[in-house]
Amino acid sequence: MHPSWIEIDLEQFRKNLWTIRKVIGKSKFCLPVKANAYGHGLIRIGQAAAEEGIDCLAVSCLQEGVKLREARVSIPILVLGAIHESQIRDLSKYDLEFSISSKYKAELVAKYLEKKARVYLEIDTGMQRTGVRPKTAIELVDTLRKMGCFELVGVYSHFATSDEPDDPFAKEQLRAFKEVTDRFQGLVRHIANSGGVLYYPESHLDMVRPGLLAYGYKGGTLPCFSLKAKISYFKVVEADIGVSYGHQYRTKEQTRIVTVPVGFGDGYSRALSNLGSVLIGGRKFQISGTICMDQFMVDIGDSSAYVGDEVVLIGKQGDQEILLSEVSALCNTVPYETLCLFNERIPRIYKNFTTELTENTEI
Ligand SMILES: *Cc1c(COP(=O)(O)O)cnc(C)c1O
Repeated sequence: MHPSWIEIDLEQFRKNLWTIRKVIGKSKFCLPVKANAYGHGLIRIGQAAAEEGIDCLAVSCLQEGVKLREARVSIPILVLGAIHESQIRDLSKYDLEFSISSKYKAELVAKYLEKKARVYLEIDTGMQRTGVRPKTAIELVDTLRKMGCFELVGVYSHFATSDEPDDPFAKEQLRAFKEVTDRFQGLVRHIANSGGVLYYPESHLDMVRPGLLAYGYKGGTLPCFSLKAKISYFKVVEADIGVSYGHQYRTKEQTRIVTVPVGFGDGYSRALSNLGSVLIGGRKFQISGTICMDQFMVDIGDSSAYVGDEVVLIGKQGDQEILLSEVSALCNTVPYETLCLFNERIPRIYKNFTTELTENTEI
């Protein structure tokens, strides 16, 4: 087994989905699984969500959607990012939903389609990223409905400032979205990300798209992600000895140093050098010196630890916990980025499968 790994507790993940279901009532649930399901593993999370009866998955691009289809995930999948001409055939072949945001794009897509495509119209209500302006939306909905090659499923928008309750701009976005879409009959309408689900219940509409909340990082849900490793080396080091590249850490007295086989080559940020902490034997220790590409060192003083002992970099050990939010703050970033940086070198280990998910499709 690889000496470092990400542990995903699928039981906790399922609990998070149920918690959200309770909050959203009759609204449908679209789970964002972009960026390898926020680092949790696209395939396993997609399969687990489909098994739990989630209505739809959201990915950022064609490749993510294709990977899910190849893993036999058959529920609707919406590609959120803008699409390119060269991708249209495959979007259709793999039955992926995508959005059309101009008449020009609609005509371009129509040229490539061999069967009806399920599409959304994205309306930009204030993110200035993708989507048509509200006033253009009315005409475009008409156009798309008249073109025989599309099945227009719905309309959506995205909040720019919904991370706090009572934000005037978020309220204005919702008002503008409702104003244009109120007139559309029979279209699924959605705008709520995690912030929308938590702080703007009036934004739940027909469907919601909470990502971070589902992975356990906002009110009411709990993390299902831990980062762990096994100590790979132990040594006794004399006083006043420099440790790791550049000798950015020096021992104060004779001490014990352990090596942990995780580095920035796995996505564990070098910004944590001399700053981050880990749990060993239920106690918290600070990282000693620069984080290398594949490993780092920890001065454990006169504590004892052995090669093979478990180290927790994110998550719980005994009654101690290292939160993703603390790690992210030390890296001057947000939990979203910290999660996404973990790459495929670190295996994901899944706990608490339901019976149908025992076949091994490790990624
Ligand atoms: C990423 C994304 C979401 C999910 O955002 P969270 O903040 O993780 O809830 C929803 N909608 C769109 C369009 C997105 O790009």
